[in-house]
Amino acid sequence: MLDAVHQAPAPLIDPFGRAITYLRISVTDRCDFRCVYCMAEDMSFLPKADLLTLEELERLAGSFITLGTRKIRLTGGEPLVRRNVMQLIERLGAQIGQGLDELTLTTNGSQLVKYAEGLAKAGVKRINVSLDTLDADKFTALTRWGKLGPVLEGIAAAKAAGIAVKINAVALKGVNEDEFDRMIAWCGAEGFDLVFIEVMPMGEIGGEMRLDQYLPLSRVRTDLMDRWTLTETDYRTGGPARYWRVGETGQRLGFITPLTHNFCESCNRVRLTCTGTLYMCLGQEDAADLRAPLRDGRDDAGVQQAVRAAIARKPKGHDFIIDRDHTAPAVPRHMSVTGG
Ligand code: SAM
Repeated sequence: MLDAVHQAPAPLIDPFGRAITYLRISVTDRCDFRCVYCMAEDMSFLPKADLLTLEELERLAGSFITLGTRKIRLTGGEPLVRRNVMQLIERLGAQIGQGLDELTLTTNGSQLVKYAEGLAKAGVKRINVSLDTLDADKFTALTRWGKLGPVLEGIAAAKAAGIAVKINAVALKGVNEDEFDRMIAWCGAEGFDLVFIEVMPMGEIGGEMRLDQYLPLSRVRTDLMDRWTLTETDYRTGGPARYWRVGETGQRLGFITPLTHNFCESCNRVRLTCTGTLYMCLGQEDAADLRAPLRDGRDDAGVQQAVRAAIARKPKGHDFIIDRDHTAPAVPRHMSVTGG
């Protein structure tokens, strides 16, 4: 479908009038950590043969860019554990300014010492690093396998490479809620923005754990306001976080509240998995297979048509609820499949 004036493909508009300009790509479902709220301990991962090659991922990303995608975020699993991922990052980085405005990634930071400079060279200007605690023992308990030291070194390497770091912390009842002040102060001192995220009911992680973990952020913010001067801002990154300025540090503090405040009305994104499945909503099961169109010999216009057909099915929003009557996952897949 061509736009009559520009002879360029018409942009992707979903059935609710939302322009889809943001693609998140989970480049692998594997991770070097096993965060307790994200994965089960005995996760089984996809056979390597099911994965799209880096070239296929690049081709699909190219189709999205042609259709108006301005921002791409690589995620996972842990994106930096995918073999040769820098090849993809460099190729996508070369698209910045050629339709793409921003290439970024969400990482657990474990590989940043090795990759920070390369990322900066490839044009990555901002990254999100997931870090739920600054306590080394708690970090290992939460990630099951991770070590805090290398992550902090990785974050420092990213900062030294000139990449703006945003810290994402999942707020977990009775786990890290006693550390929020410390994290705000640390991020303030380091010059990082900090975003707290409500735990989402995705994937089976065992028993009643979700309810035990869930901490409504509306309550957290009210509590923080007793000790910090928080001023609401209209700063938006195109994502679901709402930001406050912390008077004492000058940094921003964001809250992602899929449970206490549904933000689907401004959703501009879709999520591609490493097998070429496109999820049009993080919290719904409907998905489109883009691997078959990619592999059945179609030209780029044919692949773009498959993308367009998927966007036409984007649902209005998710239905996340966590309470005593809803302890089962809202969707069976783990966050590591779609990358959050
Ligand atoms: N490995 C990378 C990382 O750690 O950032 C990228 C993938 S990870 C799945 C992306 C984000 O999802 C992390 O910030 C993680 O804390 C968050 N996450 C995972 N499971 C979640 C859940 N059930 N609810 C809320 N956030 C979750």
